[in-house]
Amino acid sequence: MAELLLRNVRLPRDGAAVDVRVEGERIAAVAPDLAPREGEEVIEGKGGLLLPGFVESHAHLDKTLWGLPWRSHAAGGRLENRIEDERRFRAESGHDAGRQAMALALAFLERGTTRIRTHVDVDTGAGLRHLQGVLEARQRLRDVMELQVVAFPQSGLLMRPGTADLLRAAMREGAEVLGGLDPQGIDGDAAASLDLLFGIADEAGCGLDIHLHEPGEGGARTLDAILDRVQALGLQGRVAISHGFCIGEVEAPRRAALLDRMARLQIAAVTVGTPYRGVPSLLECREAGVVLAAGNDGIRDAWTPYGSPDMLERAMLVGWRNNLRRDEELGFAFDAVTSQGALACGFSDYGLQPGCIADLVVVDARHVPEAVVVRPRRELVISRGRIVVREGVPSASATILGFNTPGA
Ligand SMILES: [Zn+2]
Repeated sequence: MAELLLRNVRLPRDGAAVDVRVEGERIAAVAPDLAPREGEEVIEGKGGLLLPGFVESHAHLDKTLWGLPWRSHAAGGRLENRIEDERRFRAESGHDAGRQAMALALAFLERGTTRIRTHVDVDTGAGLRHLQGVLEARQRLRDVMELQVVAFPQSGLLMRPGTADLLRAAMREGAEVLGGLDPQGIDGDAAASLDLLFGIADEAGCGLDIHLHEPGEGGARTLDAILDRVQALGLQGRVAISHGFCIGEVEAPRRAALLDRMARLQIAAVTVGTPYRGVPSLLECREAGVVLAAGNDGIRDAWTPYGSPDMLERAMLVGWRNNLRRDEELGFAFDAVTSQGALACGFSDYGLQPGCIADLVVVDARHVPEAVVVRPRRELVISRGRIVVREGVPSASATILGFNTPGA
């Protein structure tokens, strides 16, 4: 079994200096002054800050143009305009979802993200083509990353007959989570759309992650309808609401009632920290006991020119959007890209304790708040016990995988 001894790193909790022993893909020991063993590779941590591998809880790896030439953004401002623009672009350009997913996943890995939940478009135009590409990338990356795939009806469910059967097929092919999209805003009938969606989840025995962009009180009514079904089907702890703009857009008493119910049903909120819409407040979610995780959503795709595979940057943006300034609060923003993300997505054996999967990042920072704000170079990244960045130089991912990463 491969063994590594990482010496002289500091714990994020209290700055205590420790050594970390890795055996195979797991953390075997975390303690001061561990004695090296024969045959063990010793890595000097130089007093750097030890962090758990980062978690991206909302990506669309299949859509990205990462590494490709700039594509001009000219679609209209409505959701429907962007859906149509992307469908046309992907049909005309021969966009290779699997190759692009691979390129962006490796860019995440080199910046310390070891687990990703990615939504993948399933629709009547492309069928399962994008999904198959991403599942292939997941297979190639399995030794160094955990990719969790959400079958996502980007073009609507009710409004495009045939999509429900494609989603059922996607779950059989290996998607782990069922996605949803604006049951009222896009499908035009929240009750019928949600009944169909939850029926598919029930058949597949899977959890759900529903994009909810619907604004204000209308969105809150859709959220109520989602919560009713979670309760009825016993899906507590297996459902996430992505964006949930309505939560940030309704009045305080209504918001408190929604968050209270989400907490009781163990429904996670996943936020981008969108600057131009209401968002679930990080501090209110924490207060209410709602898990709040963070993700990029799209990264440099037909939808958006923005986004970055650096989850420390996402933590910074979520902190900024929530006006978090105190050290403790910056730690909460960091939780959204680490422990809270693992809870929202159900990633197991996560953390810095013995027995956890050895997903480790070392940076040159005094503590977590400084790491979030400065976003220093990743000096060392270990993923599932394998070194993928050493002395700030990513190389092993390409070497391990035999894949030539397109540049940023
Ligand atoms: Zn999304």
